[in-house]
Amino acid sequence: MRPIQDAFPLLQTPKKIFITTHHKPDGDAIGSMLGLYHYLVKKGHLVTAVSPGELPDFLMWMPGVDMLYNYEAEPKAALEALTQCDLIFCVDFNDYSRTKHLTQHLAAATQPKILIDHHLFPAPVWDYGMSIPEKSSTCEMVYDFINLSCDNALIDLDTAACLYTGVMTDTGSFRFPITTASVHEMIADLKHKGLDHTRIHEEVYDSWSTSRMRFLGYVLMEKMEIFPKYNAGLIALSKKDMKLFDVRNGDTEGLVNYPLSIANIRFATLITERGDEIKMSFRSKGDFDVSSFAREYFNGGGHFNASGGRTNLSFIDTIAYFKKILSDIHPRLINTI
Ligand code: 5GP
Ligand code: MN
Repeated sequence: MRPIQDAFPLLQTPKKIFITTHHKPDGDAIGSMLGLYHYLVKKGHLVTAVSPGELPDFLMWMPGVDMLYNYEAEPKAALEALTQCDLIFCVDFNDYSRTKHLTQHLAAATQPKILIDHHLFPAPVWDYGMSIPEKSSTCEMVYDFINLSCDNALIDLDTAACLYTGVMTDTGSFRFPITTASVHEMIADLKHKGLDHTRIHEEVYDSWSTSRMRFLGYVLMEKMEIFPKYNAGLIALSKKDMKLFDVRNGDTEGLVNYPLSIANIRFATLITERGDEIKMSFRSKGDFDVSSFAREYFNGGGHFNASGGRTNLSFIDTIAYFKKILSDIHPRLINTI
């Protein structure tokens, strides 16, 4: 992969640009995609942004969501944009398979592909890009990309709101160790431009439905298991649990973090039964590497302290398998405390 600066000449004249991100997009995925979208449109390009699937409700306020295509809802229009574009940007993922149904179409596309991402181990399929796991978020990297292009003056309030959202969500509201001085400098710059950060916190964190709040109560009372011996917590949610509270897309966001708020719990797991597969989310505090854990046991990956994966086992078997692994890795967990 060549450095992203080598792609700058391609952006000197107006181009048709296709941007996409990972399936089940989060704040950083949609923030980086839309932040880049607003910037490239301002530069004079014709841009199409495509999410591989539906967005969670808590991101539906974001400037530009009405311009987004959802591949699952409008595959034809999305594919047409992919076929006709001159250039492809991929943000917040580094392996085609993370885009689910778009995977084979991206693999078949012959246009130059540019990666902006902060996950470990990028697949060797991009022509140009930035892949920096030490970065807090892809939104921070889009900000860096705009500055590298000497276009800081093109960051308007829409771009700022999108980029802020991804940095805020990926850093746990600026508390994870990855929140560097540069992150705060970026936010200071966005504030100088007039960013209203309080509104964004309210949109993302204080816009719950009543049933989502009651669901959280149910999950913490009935569905959270704590294993003090292993310094670990587990929340496992079946389809039936989610039906009880009419759980919507995005309503399970953040649940995995709750066990980590308990003293001495260093490793938290959320198991959710979804369609025909089981989705796993892992979070840790400190030195336990959940990215390796997800790769080793659950066909996944991600970051050191936040990762995900999946299994094709049944819901019940997944829980049993997870508990067995937990006892097997116990010494490794203990060593990290
Ligand atoms: P989440 O638990 O929020 O779904 O994901 C946490 C982190 O792990 C995110 O950075 C996400 O991109 C990554 N991740 C989640 N699922 C997978 C997966 O199946 N494979 C890989 N490689 N990364 C994943
Ligand atoms: Mn991210």
